[in-house]
Parts: sequence; C-alpha cells; structure tokens
Amino acid sequence: MRRLLCLLLLLLGSTAWAQQQIAPDVWLLRGAYEAGKQPDGNSILLRGSEGWVLIDSGRHAAHAEALLKQAGGQLKAVINTHWHLDHLGGNALLRERVPGVQVYASATVDTALQGWLARSREQMLAAMKDDKLPSATRQMMQIDLDLLSKPQALAPDQRIREPGPLQLAGRRLRIGLESAVSGGDLWVFDEATATLMTGDLITWPVPFMDTACAEDWDAALARLEALPFERLVPGHGPVMSRADLQKYRQAWQTLQACAASSAEPRACSMAWIEALPGLIATEERPRVHAMLAYYLKSRLRAAPAEARAFCAAAAKDGH
Ligand SMILES: [Zn+2]
Repeated sequence: MRRLLCLLLLLLGSTAWAQQQIAPDVWLLRGAYEAGKQPDGNSILLRGSEGWVLIDSGRHAAHAEALLKQAGGQLKAVINTHWHLDHLGGNALLRERVPGVQVYASATVDTALQGWLARSREQMLAAMKDDKLPSATRQMMQIDLDLLSKPQALAPDQRIREPGPLQLAGRRLRIGLESAVSGGDLWVFDEATATLMTGDLITWPVPFMDTACAEDWDAALARLEALPFERLVPGHGPVMSRADLQKYRQAWQTLQACAASSAEPRACSMAWIEALPGLIATEERPRVHAMLAYYLKSRLRAAPAEARAFCAAAAKDGH
C-alpha cells in the first residue's frame, strides 16, 4: 500500500512539474524519454493576446492532453518543427479537441507522409505479422501505426516555404528553415522573450542523426548561434544558454573530426562527452556511447551514398 502511495505521488508529481514556465508567457512541457517507450519531443506554449501558440505537439496522447490542460480551447496555432512523429503525432488529438486550430509546418511534412513515413508504416505492418515480436515493441509500433493511419490529421494547414516573420495569436515570431535533421527543419524565435526553439537541430544527449544530412549541420548551428536569443529550447533535453550552444557546436566539430579519423567509436563518444563538461549526466553516458556507435556506423562513417542519403535532392523525395 505504501509503495502504491509512493508511486501515485510520483505520478502526480510528474504531472505537476511537467510544465515549466521559462519566460513571461512561455511554458515548456519537457518531452519524456523513458525506457520501453518511444520519445516525445519538447513542446513550448506561448501565450499571446489572442490565445496560445504551440511549438511541437509530441507523440503520445498523454503529452497532448497535458498541453490541452494549459491552453484548452484557446489554442490557436501549432507549429511543427519537423515531420518526426515525436514532434507532430499530437496534431491529431489537438485537432479533434480544438476544431479550427491551424497547423503550420514545412512542406517536407507532406513528402515525408507520402514517402519515409508511409514506408515505415508498411514495414511496421509487416513486422506486426511476426508472432515472435515482443509485446512491448508491438505496443510501441501500434501507437505509431494509429497515428499514421490518419496522415491527413498530421499534415499542416499552412506550409512554410520561406524563412521570415510570422504573427500568430498576437505573438511576433521569426521562423527559420534548415535542412540538416529532416530535410525541412523549422526553428522559431519568439521576439518578446528572445526565446529560440530549435526542434531537433539540437538534441540531448547526442544529435539524432536518423534522417540527417550531417554535412549541413555545422552551418545550421552557426546560423542559430548568430541569433540574438537569451535562452534556447532544444528538441529534446533541458533549456540551454548561449554558452551551452557554443560548447555543443564545438562538440559537434570534435565529433566530426573524430569520425573522419580511425579512432575507435568509443574514443569518439568519449570526446563528445568531454567536450560538454557538466552537460551530460553520468547515468546518460552508456546511452551516449551506444547511440554514437550506431550513428558512426549508420551515418558518419557509412559509405557515401548511405551517409548522404538524406542530403539535398534525396531528402526532397522523402527517402
Ligand atoms: Zn525528436
């Protein structure tokens, strides 16, 4: 009973502290990244004179519900930074609950829904036919399959094709357009509070390179560094300062140099950790080593065709 009570308190606690005010009228809902579950990206709610604007809607229903608790029927617009399901899966539920909410994203979302995500759906459906598929994996896949069964509920109403200013719900925003992570990555700069939301152009504990064009990344980080921000919200992980971004970019350059050398994968992941003193918790290190070993093999040190599979023309086809 006592254990049950502790668990309940923990669960209650987690919903209570889940939303964090990081600047006047700016709230952050940190994305969960729990063992046995697919992640949610970070979500940011901005309150304007005419309602709320949301940057990224997460993947899981619980995440979208937490956002609705804050913004309710006053949610006017959603901006998806990119097409990964942990940043736009919540669109479906939000649209159901708040009819008329306008979704903004890059046109790459459409290409991905018809290309990469449609193929991923086919692969998951095939995998689900295997009786030996572990039930935890089956559950994770079912969540994504449910989302991908209604692609029109995930797609944007308004396509952002150029960087520039955008006023939503009375909030003045500046939108940037990059291509390093997904072929069409938006960043959002909130003028009133100098808060920069980067989506997965920045992620912790390592850059997520699954659909990345690694060679474009450093220039994208340089453009972020040039913005007059006072705080930065990454796609995954805690709020960062300008000094944190500078270290992150240097760590990325160190990782690139290591990938180009003959050093062991573990030496490269160690170099990444050492370039970010105090920014990667000790308990995160095993995950850093595992993830970077995977990305070195599948991306940074892969044959050119594979390493560049998501660069320029290839990304436009949603490959
Ligand atoms: Zn993400």
